[in-house]
Amino acid sequence: MSFTARISQAIKGAALMDFAGALGLALQHIWEPKMTVQFPFERNPQSPRFRGEHALRRYPNGEERCIACKLCEAICPAQAIYIEAEPREDGSRRTTRYDIDMVKCIYCGLCQEACPVDAIVEGPNTDFAVETREELYYDKQRLLDNGDRWERQLAKNLELDAPYR
Ligand code: SF4
Ligand code: SF4
Repeated sequence: MSFTARISQAIKGAALMDFAGALGLALQHIWEPKMTVQFPFERNPQSPRFRGEHALRRYPNGEERCIACKLCEAICPAQAIYIEAEPREDGSRRTTRYDIDMVKCIYCGLCQEACPVDAIVEGPNTDFAVETREELYYDKQRLLDNGDRWERQLAKNLELDAPYR
């Protein structure tokens, strides 16, 4: 740094010019509406395309939507999905095991995009922080429970997004 620049910096420091500038900026915005949200009592608006915690959906009659085609498992870039399947007595094909390793998942949404029956979806829930890694190994029952819990919101989000798919 040159001698002139050092003198200039020293004068600015002595005159508290940076402080005055910051104070001026604060005063300029002091009466504007506050952007702070009182989380978790208040939340920002969320897009219907938000990719949160996964869920497996059912049809209104309670039947699982998933037909065990394994497209989600094949497309998952993180290889986070593991499926086992076998035919039922009525000839329909359903999963006997559907696991997602949420530690591996990168929330890309490709599983949802690949699913032909809107069974696996990423829902609106963001509040699923846990204390141990094991709690992030989701099995089929947990995913179905998520689907049951969030179905109304999931169906609404899919409907809102449908014109763009
Ligand atoms: S969101 Fe992406 S990474 Fe996560 S399970 Fe689906 S396809 Fe795999
Ligand atoms: S969730 Fe969808 S893509 Fe994955 S196996 Fe089931 S039907 Fe196929």
